[in-house]
Amino acid sequence: MAAPFSTDKVFIGGVWRPAGGEATLPIENPSTGEVMGQLAAGTAADVDAAVYAARAAFGGDWSRTTAVERGRILARMGREVEARIDMLAELEALDVGKPLKQARNDVIALARYLEFYAGAADKLHGETIPFQDGYTVYTLREPHGVTGHIIPWNYPMQIIGRSVVAALCVGNAVVLKPAEQASLTALAFAHIAADCGLPAGALNVVTGTGAEAGAALAAHPGINHLSFTGSTGVGVAIQQAAALNAVPVTLELGGKSPQLVFDDADLDKALPFLVNAGVQNAGQTCSAGSRVLVQRGVYDEVVRRMAERFAALTVGPAMDDRDVGPLVSKKQQAMVDSFIEKGRADGLIVAQATLADLPSGGAYVAPTLFANVAPDHPLAQQEIFGPAVVVIPFDTEEDAVAIANGTDYGLVAGVWTADGGRQMRLAKRLRAGQVFINNYGAAGGVELPFGGVGKSGHGREKGFEALYAFTTLKTVAAHHG
Ligand code: ADP
Ligand code: MG
Repeated sequence: MAAPFSTDKVFIGGVWRPAGGEATLPIENPSTGEVMGQLAAGTAADVDAAVYAARAAFGGDWSRTTAVERGRILARMGREVEARIDMLAELEALDVGKPLKQARNDVIALARYLEFYAGAADKLHGETIPFQDGYTVYTLREPHGVTGHIIPWNYPMQIIGRSVVAALCVGNAVVLKPAEQASLTALAFAHIAADCGLPAGALNVVTGTGAEAGAALAAHPGINHLSFTGSTGVGVAIQQAAALNAVPVTLELGGKSPQLVFDDADLDKALPFLVNAGVQNAGQTCSAGSRVLVQRGVYDEVVRRMAERFAALTVGPAMDDRDVGPLVSKKQQAMVDSFIEKGRADGLIVAQATLADLPSGGAYVAPTLFANVAPDHPLAQQEIFGPAVVVIPFDTEEDAVAIANGTDYGLVAGVWTADGGRQMRLAKRLRAGQVFINNYGAAGGVELPFGGVGKSGHGREKGFEALYAFTTLKTVAAHHG
């Protein structure tokens, strides 16, 4: 086990200690199936203690930390994350099966979030509002207080960056519940925060299951804001739990994001994105570009060229750093395989990568391309969360918009066309939180507000927008005659 710290402790009020009840959960390496260590199974009592510690920090040292000091702490953390890139990337690769280079990209993104929010900390301000004679009116942007963060296993470091770091930037005290399949980098992040002088209690990490630690955090009356990234079903349950305490919630849920390819598209430029946006992180990406809609004039060429690329994808253990690693768990593997079998039964598979010489205990699935899929087929409607992409033909721009907007989701969308007018029309008409024109994902830009509509969730993280989400606005009206 590569972790240079003990993994079976929770971090509460600046102290590492076993979870109440001392129960643990196995840490599995999905590349091999091997158990690498144990994680603390946090209980409702641990969550309670963490919220209490966060409240104390919020009322104490952390609230007295000025904006510029908060920024400096985050800046130190950013440099420290960069300095420890090898350790962090290896931990993530072993823990979730992410190929090493992709894990390194997550570390770079976390460092970049810390850099961005370090710079933003002293640049968020309120406004003055012209009002009746005899008044001065202004607004104050204030932290919510204690923010809860329940995060998934697919991009732990990036989600810590866009959610936890943004919340700390504006002075909230945080309770973080990482996913039970992927807690190691969250624990490493807490060590780095402590080393860089973040006051005790400003960041608390309680590992454990969703059913116990996650549910306790979502229902806790002592939190003031909750940020969740994960599946739609759990997100709805969390929003219901938070509603009983009137706690506001940001939900970043799933997606079935389309990429629209028109006859006039630059295919050489589009092709790598049409494949990579679906298979990056083995397709376990909320914003995966997993539905490729292609206009008839280039349909055969796009399918043929995508199929060549799919067939050539290499699959292997995370530390071997091939194109695609294992899925995070056997449970996910079984779920994705059942989608692939459905596609096979319906005769939709046009290309599949080869699985060879893989550790027998690993959670590998073959990257698969489906073509000529009807827009209402389950493969074109449901989030597969594996390295699988569906291709759907269309005739007109009108048809493309109807198909693109024809799922319950609305996270992101990509448009490939040389026609400037069409680019502008589609940017307005596509139902999504982000639209990419002649690119997909904008290299993950931390500056760019991100979030969904419909079953993809609500609220925005990333960029400056996150700072509005993690603050509440107070209006002050002073009458001075
Ligand atoms: P997945 O099904 O892909 O693992 P989830 O939405 O279940 O994704 O998990 C995202 C996060 O939500 C994880 O940290 C998980 O522990 C947590 N979680 C799961 N179920 C609950 C729940 N009922 N209440 C609160 N948190 C939960
Ligand atoms: Mg693991």
